[in-house]
Amino acid sequence: MKTISQTPRFIGIACALFSLLITGNAFSNDSHDAPAPATASAPAAPKAKVPPPAAGDDQMSKALFEKISKGSGDIVIRTGDLPAGATPSESKPVDKPKAVKAAAKPVDKDAHDVHWSYVDGPGGPENWGNLSKDNLACSKGKTQSPININIDRAVKAELAPLEFLYRPSPLSIVDNGHTVMVNYGEGSNLLVDGRQYRLVQFHFHKPSEEAINGDRTDMVAHLVHQHHDGSLVVVGVLMSTKKPSPARKSWFGDEAVKENPMIQTLWNNVPLIKGKTEMPGVIIDVNQLLPADRSYFTYMGSLTTPPCSENVLWFVMKNPIYVSEEQVKNFDRIYPMNARPLQPKGDRLIKETRGS
Ligand SMILES: [Zn+2]
Repeated sequence: MKTISQTPRFIGIACALFSLLITGNAFSNDSHDAPAPATASAPAAPKAKVPPPAAGDDQMSKALFEKISKGSGDIVIRTGDLPAGATPSESKPVDKPKAVKAAAKPVDKDAHDVHWSYVDGPGGPENWGNLSKDNLACSKGKTQSPININIDRAVKAELAPLEFLYRPSPLSIVDNGHTVMVNYGEGSNLLVDGRQYRLVQFHFHKPSEEAINGDRTDMVAHLVHQHHDGSLVVVGVLMSTKKPSPARKSWFGDEAVKENPMIQTLWNNVPLIKGKTEMPGVIIDVNQLLPADRSYFTYMGSLTTPPCSENVLWFVMKNPIYVSEEQVKNFDRIYPMNARPLQPKGDRLIKETRGS
């Protein structure tokens, strides 16, 4: 069941990276109900508010998929790492014909002479693009993530609501050397304007990678989704230890941010060994990571770790979820700083749901 994934080659997953977790989970069979997978492969935009995919996006998507499938060698997802019921399969999503080409292919040797990290130096963020030709987007890309979201400059619009069709999953958790990541069982999907993206994994950064009006929150959860054609959507859920308004006095004392039960379950089960996926027999429900208010910012960006692949559709939830200071401290003991520096926004458009 548990396989140590140490081989620094093959399918890497980088942060916003996603592990091409594979499928067949007994949990569901509805993940293939997506609207015609199609020809257009760029992430769908919120209702009519973002321009339709450009003609060249199909190729871009293929390239993206290939890059991600090669990955940076940080994790190898083996069948033993898959959630219960997952069907053994190569390291590629099933039903994705375009993935064939992307099957586990060792990355170039030079990619691993120096391993990427968040610490300044040969492997630091400034050098990610030099570590491998697969990482060129890290240095040459023009639509990189994370970015600062300046609310005053975001276009307020009536955007289609995100439809989170999430269901519980057996917990499958790994400390991949860059973050704590949960591989999610099949059957949980995000509908973006009718287009279905499967939730593949989620993971954490401290502090939050994205900033709002220049401020980062204590942490962020990134929920990584993939459409059949390989295109990606990442939902960022900010995590804060501070309530927006001062604590209110009550008969029961000051209101304080309580422990987040789901986060506690995850922290309780972080494996002792890096790279080793644990499946402790616990069921989790990722709905518990979502804020009640689903308003969001959206923009086009990239994975925030090598290979920094672009053409990723981002949704950053406007409202955070709350966690206790102790929970943040405990993550800090594993990863005190695993956030990529902010990237230039360039001339990109950021949209924001109106109201709230
Ligand atoms: Zn991330």
